Amino acid sequence: MSSRVPDPAGIFLPLRLAAAALALALLVWPGRAPGAGSEKDVFSGERALELVVAQCELGPRIPGSPGNAALRRLIHDTAGRCGFPSREQCFPAVLPLTGDEVEICNVVVSIPGGGDGPGLWVGAHFDTRPHCDRDPDPAARLEPLVGANDGASGVAVLLHLMEVLAGRVPPAGVELLFFDGEDAGLGGDPRGFCLGSGRMAESWGEFGSPLPQAAPRGLILLDMVGDRDLLIPQEAYSLQYAPEWTRTVFERAQALGLDAFQPFPGPPVFDDHVPFLRRGIPALDLIDFDYRFWHTLEDTPNKCSAGSLAQVGSLVLDLILTP
Ligand SMILES: [Zn+2]
Repeated sequence: MSSRVPDPAGIFLPLRLAAAALALALLVWPGRAPGAGSEKDVFSGERALELVVAQCELGPRIPGSPGNAALRRLIHDTAGRCGFPSREQCFPAVLPLTGDEVEICNVVVSIPGGGDGPGLWVGAHFDTRPHCDRDPDPAARLEPLVGANDGASGVAVLLHLMEVLAGRVPPAGVELLFFDGEDAGLGGDPRGFCLGSGRMAESWGEFGSPLPQAAPRGLILLDMVGDRDLLIPQEAYSLQYAPEWTRTVFERAQALGLDAFQPFPGPPVFDDHVPFLRRGIPALDLIDFDYRFWHTLEDTPNKCSAGSLAQVGSLVLDLILTP
């Protein structure tokens, strides 16, 4: 429910309807022309940026809101169009930031692999924070976040990866994990954050879990990966609890010449990878936490760049195609 989201006189509704039409138009990615060589093997930062804009046009994606439901539909539709099965994991929760009782729904998309080696899990949160509580203007602090970088950037990479991988069989299976309820906690209390990923990690191995039984090679979490000045260090929890996996991924980035990835220790971020680290799964959070528009009204698509998204998408695509 988004009843606490200010929407005077319903002015956002026509905007949302227009946005939904735009998002539908964006559902179809032409890809490459037949015979155009290996262009479809290349991750397009421009396309990913389009998908950032399309998500923001849906309105706030607060758990339980119409924008959240619309984005879930877009994820399922994209998966279906690309030929991949998708499923949901839903449960009731109270959002600490608003007190709203909502249903939280994670989405998992499976890309089958050709071999029986360990798969790769790639995650991002698709919900947006209900309030811009770090906005310099006090009057804006109860407004909902647009969430271009904080939310939409990681999801855009996952959505475009589906498009790039449509019709292909990677060497090992890939699970794309779309987490709900990441960003509705109260500052200073990590227990209210990562509600969706917490439940998903807890349920791993249980009957009804949306995750495969077998442990993956590793999990890569994408959060705030669209910043124009992208610089991703080795997040501290990842480095401490999954050092080998962290180094492996950063070495791959260096080998590919992706200069946004800097192999030096970064700050610890309590994020959707933590519940998986607790389950013993090697999990790496790719995050640029040095973003001055974080949790403000200014977290809009013009703060993101195609070049940044291309670096992140190219790295993940390489890890998928060459285990
Ligand atoms: Zn956030």
